[in-house]
Amino acid sequence: MTQDLTTLQPLRPTLYRLAADGRSLDFLFAQCPHCQALSFPANAPGCMHCGHPVDASAQVTRPGGGTLLEYVTLHVAMVPGLPTPSIAGDIRIAEQVVEEGVIGVTDESLLAPGMAMRAMAVPLASGEHYGCQFVPVDASGGRS
Ligand SMILES: [Zn+2]
Repeated sequence: MTQDLTTLQPLRPTLYRLAADGRSLDFLFAQCPHCQALSFPANAPGCMHCGHPVDASAQVTRPGGGTLLEYVTLHVAMVPGLPTPSIAGDIRIAEQVVEEGVIGVTDESLLAPGMAMRAMAVPLASGEHYGCQFVPVDASGGRS
């Protein structure tokens, strides 16, 4: 099933937006004018690394994704409407920035710590918004 995601709105517009490919997500960061490091979310009052004030002019977009650090299977819905069980994980989305996210695979055995993940838009049951799920960049498998 292919759905045109471009007609939907992001559930968390301060965090992400649809990327140019119409399927993956770009994340909104604040890039510190002092130390150049990225902070997330972008609407933080100050750089999370050095504390320097950041404002809207510091906002940059980067392809959403990162490195999978750890993960756990949840048997209750973390977000209303999510099927269970679902898998939640900690993903390092930038240097020294770790966020918890929903992992868009059905089985933990498809995952491994250190795996490269990509943030994808997933249509939500409301029919008006899309949410964010992380999937392995190499979703085709290929583990030896
Ligand atoms: Zn800084």
